[in-house]
This record gives sequence, structure tokens and C-alpha cells, in this order.
Amino acid sequence: MIGAGPAGLTAAIYAERSGLKTVVLEKAMIGGQVSLTPVVENWPGVKSVPGARLMEMMAEQARQYTDIHENEQVEEIKIGKKIDIITRQRTYEARAVIVAMGADHLKLGVAGEDRFSGRGVSYCATCDGFLYKDWSVIVIGGGNSALTEALYLASVGAHVGLVHRREELRAEKRLQDMFSTTGSTLIQNTAVEEVMGTDRVTAIRLKDLKTGDIRTLPVDAVFVAIGEQPNSGLAKQIGVLVDEKNYIKVDRNMRTNIPRIYAAGDITGGVRQIVTAVGAGAVAAVSAFEDLGDPYWKKTA
Ligand code: NAP
Repeated sequence: MIGAGPAGLTAAIYAERSGLKTVVLEKAMIGGQVSLTPVVENWPGVKSVPGARLMEMMAEQARQYTDIHENEQVEEIKIGKKIDIITRQRTYEARAVIVAMGADHLKLGVAGEDRFSGRGVSYCATCDGFLYKDWSVIVIGGGNSALTEALYLASVGAHVGLVHRREELRAEKRLQDMFSTTGSTLIQNTAVEEVMGTDRVTAIRLKDLKTGDIRTLPVDAVFVAIGEQPNSGLAKQIGVLVDEKNYIKVDRNMRTNIPRIYAAGDITGGVRQIVTAVGAGAVAAVSAFEDLGDPYWKKTA
């Protein structure tokens, strides 16, 4: 398994339980994006749990079955009779691979964003939010991530403004309802043109997309939560097919177009939920197990 988020960890549990030997390789830390999610409220069976805690629990269970190698980035995959998985540390020989590298946050791409990254510009409220009690912060985006970040920031006592480029929010209604009770400000039909500051962020320049008016709003921090891009580069290098947004194409068995390479989780797009990633990880592992015993790529039509 490449990637130790919900999909990779679940795939390892299922693969080992079916009798395969596995290892999970993770370029950074266990947990993927969920570890950065302040609160998860849609994991069945648990009303509310910090994302990092949920992933600790999953990892604890996965470790009963498999080794998880953190900080071991896969640099190359070579497909031959066996599949070579080459990391900086060593080369692994595998019979099948489940790619579950998830997705990373998107950048806004405006002036000042990179310059003030880590100095007021953040992509993770769980990581940085506690710094901003009683301070003014802006969250950018209108999806579930932006609303979750905004709710978290409001809960730690920040004064929150949510800047969205359209009228309607994309986030689920329950999050919108919760947001409306926090006393936070919603700034609709507005684009961020620039993040401004000296040593740190001090303001943002906003453009009203209906009137064209430009204004500068003093803020202490900017949290960008505008979606994600799949980490599918490595898979693309070996010829795995992706869609127009670079999400890996899979069939209902989580098979990619390349025999013995499966994909699961956010890297395949779709609704991108923890529950669906977990389900896809299980399907990928069961498919790998069944296919290795009865290889469909060796059958003639
Ligand atoms: P998303 O659903 O793709 O929403 C991205 C938001 O950012 C949209 O509102 C979009 O505006 C806006 N946006 C995109 N590019 C922008 C730009 N350049 N400038 C300004 N705004 C921009 O992404 P997400 O919120 O990160 O969610 C990703 C996935 O994770 C989703 O499937 C989501 O359901 C899931 N997720 C779920 C939960 C949960 O269940 N509680 C929590 C977090 C994430 P438009 O609306 O105009 O396109």
C-alpha cells in the first residue's frame, strides 16, 4: 500500500486478513488529510472525534497486521514480473500495489500567498488555529473543508470571516447551519486578489465579483480551504489512466487500467469521504487477493 490514510490502512488490514503479506509506505505521517481535520462527525458509530484521534485508532488496529513505514517516500514504481517499489531507503518487490496517496490542498495562486505561508497564511486550522484566539481570520472557500475550518476557528475564539466566490455555499447544510450560529461573517461573491503584510499577514485585498469594487480588509490570518488535487503523479508515470482532474480511473473492483495496480480513496475522486475511502480500500485489497489467485490478465477472452 502506498499511503497511510484511511484507504491504505484499511486495504492493509483486509489484505493481511485474506492472507497476503503487506507493508504500508507513507511519505510523511500516518493519517493523511483526516489527521488535519479538526472534528469528524460523520464516521458512523462515533458522534464526534478529532480527525487525528480517529486516524490514531485506525493505525493502532492496522499495526496489529502490518508494518507502517512513515517518512518513506516512494520515488519510482517499475513493473516487471514483480513490481519494484523504489523508495529512498530501499526497493520492495510486490505482486500487487494499492495506491492510496490521497490528495493535497490546492493553493489560491494569488500574490502574497507563498510569501506569507507559515506567517499568517495556513492550510490547516487544526495545526495553526489555536494561535488566533481573539484575532481576525479569514477562511477562503465554500465547501465542507472551508466550513469545517471556519467552525473550528470560531470554536477557538477567533473572529471568522468566510470568503466565498459565489452566492451559494457548496458545503452540506448541517455545516452551514452550524456556521450561521457562530456569529461569523459570510462574504459572498468575493474573490481574494492579494494577501498583504509586512513580516506577517496584515490584510487581504478583496474584489466584489458583482460590482467589481475592490477593498482592503485588515486580517491577522488567512486559511485557504478551496479543495484538493490528487497525488497521482507517480501512478501516471507508469501509465495509470486518470480523468481530466488527474483522479485515477478505477473500475468497481478498484482496478486501474494496469493489472496488479489498484487505487483507493481520495486519489480516485468521487465523494471523497472517510467512509468511502475505507470501503474502497477494502474492495481494492479483496480484489488484489482474488486477482492474484485467479489473474484476469492471463485469461483469454
Ligand atoms: P470542494 O468541495 O471541492 O470545495 C472547494 C470550494 O472552494 C468550493 O466552494 C469552490 O468554489 C472553492 N474554490 C475552488 N477553487 C477556488 C479558487 N481558486 N478561489 C476561490 N474559491 C475556490 O473541496 P473541499 O471543501 O476541500 O472538500 C473536498 C472533499 O472532501 C469533498 O468531497 C468534501 O465533501 C470532503 N470533505 C468532507 C467533510 C465532511 O464530510 N465533514 C469535511 C471536509 C471535506 P465553488 O463552490 O464556486 O466551486
